[in-house]
Amino acid sequence: MSAEALSDALRLLSETLRFYQAIGVTELPLSRDYLPRPKDALTHLEAQIDGCTRCKLSQGRTTIVFGSGNPKAGLICIGEAPGADEDIQGKPFVGRAGQLLTKMLESVGFDREQDCYIANIVKCRPPGNRNPEPDEIESCNPFLMGQLAAIQPKVIIALGSFAAQTLLKTKEPISKLRGRAHQYGTMVLIPTFHPAFLLRNPGPAFKRQAWEDLKLARLEYDRPVP
Ligand code: URA
Repeated sequence: MSAEALSDALRLLSETLRFYQAIGVTELPLSRDYLPRPKDALTHLEAQIDGCTRCKLSQGRTTIVFGSGNPKAGLICIGEAPGADEDIQGKPFVGRAGQLLTKMLESVGFDREQDCYIANIVKCRPPGNRNPEPDEIESCNPFLMGQLAAIQPKVIIALGSFAAQTLLKTKEPISKLRGRAHQYGTMVLIPTFHPAFLLRNPGPAFKRQAWEDLKLARLEYDRPVP
């Protein structure tokens, strides 16, 4: 290995360890490669969740909805949990809310497939679309953190109060959390309304606020890395 390649590898390792530290990971089992490419890291993670029975959501799901999009994306959108359409198709945000999300992203120049990765707090559909419960969130958390560590995006858009409150570990309502950027480890987190909420509450007021949030996400995404 050349001195240059070794120095690159060490820099990447130190960035990755700093990233894990920033998101609160305190222990790493030394049993696998810590410098995989994002795509390989996601494939490895998805293989680990295959057939998952870590929580009770496994009993009612049809498909595990791991996540989809570009593993090298600078932007990750995080929703709450798969709904009925996602549970059947195995991909996040494919129903009506998903179609609106695609349009919201396009409104600020993001191509959903090229520029984003999309995931949820929990990977299996809760019965009747109820909110995920604390034990379910905890069981699934290593997979979401693994996705963030693999992709290391610049910006996270948290879709809806549930995702924003879970990620930011707060009970503040989305109306208080949205409208500003929150530091989240090495990333910036922008909370906004869930597209399903926007579908249930049509009219210009919430839509305009969501657009402000998306413009802020765009600004953070375009901000040059120091
Ligand atoms: N709502 C979510 O929060 N996630 C999905 O994947 C679909 C709908």
